[in-house]
Amino acid sequence: MQNYFSRDDYRALRGSRYLVFGAARSGVAAVELLRALGREARVRDEAPAEQFAEARRRFDELSVPAWFGPASPADLDGVDAIILSPGVPAAHALIQQARRRSIPVYSELELGFACSPAAIVAITGSNGKTTTTTLVAHFLRAAGAPTLEAGNIGHPLCAAVLTEEARKPGAVLSIEVSSFQLEAIDQFRPVAAIVLNITPDHLDRYGGSIDAYAAAKARITLNQTESDALIVNQDDARCLALLQETRAQPWTFSTFRPVERGAYLSEDMLMVGAGREHALCSINEVPLPGMHNVSNVLAAAAAACFLKLPIKAVRQAVLSVQPARHRLQFVAEVDGVAYYNDSKATNVDAVLKALQSFSEPIILLAGGRDKGSPFERYAGEVCRRVKKLIVFGEAAPLIRRAWGRAPTVEVPGMAEAVPEAARSAAPGDVVLLSPACASFDQYRNYEERGDDFIARVNALRKES
Ligand code: ADP
Repeated sequence: MQNYFSRDDYRALRGSRYLVFGAARSGVAAVELLRALGREARVRDEAPAEQFAEARRRFDELSVPAWFGPASPADLDGVDAIILSPGVPAAHALIQQARRRSIPVYSELELGFACSPAAIVAITGSNGKTTTTTLVAHFLRAAGAPTLEAGNIGHPLCAAVLTEEARKPGAVLSIEVSSFQLEAIDQFRPVAAIVLNITPDHLDRYGGSIDAYAAAKARITLNQTESDALIVNQDDARCLALLQETRAQPWTFSTFRPVERGAYLSEDMLMVGAGREHALCSINEVPLPGMHNVSNVLAAAAAACFLKLPIKAVRQAVLSVQPARHRLQFVAEVDGVAYYNDSKATNVDAVLKALQSFSEPIILLAGGRDKGSPFERYAGEVCRRVKKLIVFGEAAPLIRRAWGRAPTVEVPGMAEAVPEAARSAAPGDVVLLSPACASFDQYRNYEERGDDFIARVNALRKES
């Protein structure tokens, strides 16, 4: 066995026969890593086999049996441990059975961690994870450290740990972690953990309880010790409460007030430090829109400070940040109206942050598949800021009921929503796709939804 699998924590994965439950991207990465480790693996996914043509080819190459359709208790026979894909809820009957039979259940994150030769900065929160994960990696790269962004960002940790970059001495991986992945960790221990915010999201999976959701997020610091840092948003009470329960060094960031160790906004300067403070840059130099992105930059800067990255390198990195697609992405101006694609806004807090980023009148496009969002709670703020609301998809009636105090039109989908927005807009207005819902009722993912919006805006351009 190669020595990069020699991390002490690796002993946590003692088993030699694994069931990988879930054959999507992270399941495939887990299988590949297990086989690289010389372990036996088998796969179960409850979706039909036809959806997994490519994955099945890979399993065949690796001599890994894969079964599709409803799970059976026999799946557990002879299994030492389960690697659970984030899409499968921990309440699943097979997982309950495994627990009764004392078969340990780990997330793909846990497996990747156990086999990671590199230190890990882990980022979680309801919103801003991808943006901040990218920022941390960007800062590390600017400081000359080997790094990769991985995790929920589309490149599973199990795949990242097999790359050359992750095995370089001094490598630090920037990992986006979800509450689902954190539910099934055991030894996972990041050197720095960032919790950006805890606002209602995925409540459909947590029995409507934000406390249960927050408890899953809190697990990010479970195994941290005094040499690690827990970096939380000082402006978010649920985040701040996590500092009461950690052994890690408390670090914070804030857009409202100075912090002792971490990063904050002072007038229009971003400040960073622990004891001695340094000015990082002015707010006008941050190339990402909205105060929420200033908060994300502060969080990443606090991590950079804890990791002792040179401030000059971090400053240069901030100035060269590229705006991300589908996150308050400017699309075009047509007839004096600015169109923005915020398709990644799949919960109500992200929508609020998008609305707060504009002073212009806003025509808001929202809808899709509901995730148990408390639309009512945000109604006052939304209706105050929105000139017209255009709702579509499965959740349209639900959103209309909650936010219908704003002038509202219900349409089937994007094909009708964009022309309707164009008809309703006056020069100087903003048309904002910020759906507050998942996309799965009408699209494969939020990227496809955002691309559909962009294509339809571009079609308006041709017409005008
Ligand atoms: P995540 O990976 O957590 O989904 P992203 O960085 O992809 O986060 O952003 C998702 C959505 O949330 C986008 O609409 C974005 O504009 C918004 N957003 C980004 N950062 C924050 C933040 N700190 N607070 C609230 N909303 C945010």
